[in-house]
Amino acid sequence: MKNNNDLTLNRRTLLAGAGVALGGAVLPGLESLAQNDNDDGVVFTNTTVVSNDADRRTLKNVALAVQNDVIAAIGDSDELLARFPRAEVYDGRRKALLPGLINCHAHLAATIAKGFNEDFGFPNSLQLPESPESLLSSEEATVMSVLAAIEGLRAGTTTMVQNVGGIARDAEALAGTGQRWVFAESVRDITTVDGPMSPPRLANSVPPQFSDRLREDGMQRITDLHSAWDGHDNGRVSVFPAAALAELSSPQLLRDVREFAERHDRGYTIHMTQSQAEVDFMLRYHGVRPALFLDQHEFLGPRLFAAHARYCDASEIAALGRSDTIITHQAAMAANRGVSPPITALRRAGCRIALGTDNNNTDLLHVMKTAISLERIQRNDEIPGTLPQPEDMLADAAGGGSHAVNQASSIGSLEVGKKADILVLDTFKPHLTPSGRILSAWIHNGQPSDIEAVVVDGRFVMRDHRILTLDEDALLEESFNIGERVWNRILRDGPLPLPPLL
Ligand SMILES: [Zn+2]
Repeated sequence: MKNNNDLTLNRRTLLAGAGVALGGAVLPGLESLAQNDNDDGVVFTNTTVVSNDADRRTLKNVALAVQNDVIAAIGDSDELLARFPRAEVYDGRRKALLPGLINCHAHLAATIAKGFNEDFGFPNSLQLPESPESLLSSEEATVMSVLAAIEGLRAGTTTMVQNVGGIARDAEALAGTGQRWVFAESVRDITTVDGPMSPPRLANSVPPQFSDRLREDGMQRITDLHSAWDGHDNGRVSVFPAAALAELSSPQLLRDVREFAERHDRGYTIHMTQSQAEVDFMLRYHGVRPALFLDQHEFLGPRLFAAHARYCDASEIAALGRSDTIITHQAAMAANRGVSPPITALRRAGCRIALGTDNNNTDLLHVMKTAISLERIQRNDEIPGTLPQPEDMLADAAGGGSHAVNQASSIGSLEVGKKADILVLDTFKPHLTPSGRILSAWIHNGQPSDIEAVVVDGRFVMRDHRILTLDEDALLEESFNIGERVWNRILRDGPLPLPPLL
């Protein structure tokens, strides 16, 4: 049971970033942010710029100038200092600038399930009587979501897609982290199944039935969230519709979601071919595999970023490519599940690839590390270990992601005129020095803690490794206490049973 002190701390932690003054006092986080807001912009001098532009150039010994929310110039340091004489000078020697990463698939509150969700398959084979998430109050779930957002920010995520139902609860707290957000409000309308398919469930399943009421209520949630948040904070927040999973969606729901996205010029998303049981369910009751079901109902297309594609067959891959559907690849989660999604075949079919984390952690650097290895193992190249390259991973994580979130013209690369969403890497580290190819060094050897500063929309949200938008110590303290309570309850009868390794 929480006491009043906890509630006060909770409000302080969460509201600090949202610009809410409590008791008439400006909170520490806000003050710091204001101090770092330089109206005259900032020039990063004598630095390396990993651009992720069309030519994938890495520019050495250059300057990058930020004015307001955009990249105003990239060029010679002396020239840019003369051109922006009043701008703050950020010494970029021994640093590298990268475009902010875009996490296209996250369920943030699931960070409470770290240590439970990585090691037991999908759906989780442990079948505990209570899942960690079910033991969170709604306020605690918000704290977990903000914790995961900050973990992601520290790992270089400047844009994040939160994909759950009921985002309104967390919207203000999430927007307050200072990141760019896509709130992908998730809807399902099946009444005969309550979650993702699993083999035991499939054995006892019945033909799916759908509820108009569930669908209409869900679409109303999307409409309400869109009205309240889309375009907020200088366009940092956008709201997308989402169908939860292929096996939980009626054709009418798929239609409603796609039409909402088209009407509002937004993207949309879904979980697709996430498990073999899902494929079996769709074949049993709809007579087609999941991606082909979506194709039949005109759900595929360039606005769709479909999560997972783990069990797609050749006919599904062809349909996804033909329709220019974007695939969001949760490489680390897939590898945990023992699955290597057919990413090479999807690329060859014409799909853009974006990256996501899914549950438990929000570290996109870890995802890039796993994705590059998984795909190299999967490919059958003449010289193994040459494709994909680190530049391909950044192209997925920033470029592919920018298409998924429907903002390719404004984010995803460091180019003049684009939004200033920038990571500052400290390359003066044993594992990054020396390096002729800093992007390769970072993806293969790097750590989130190499990022010393993060700029989103032209503002520092982290600087000198310090989060500026909220009180991170208070957030951690509270998160730790929530974790202790939840996990003590789960583990009170002993350790989780482990399968024997034979
Ligand atoms: Zn997911």
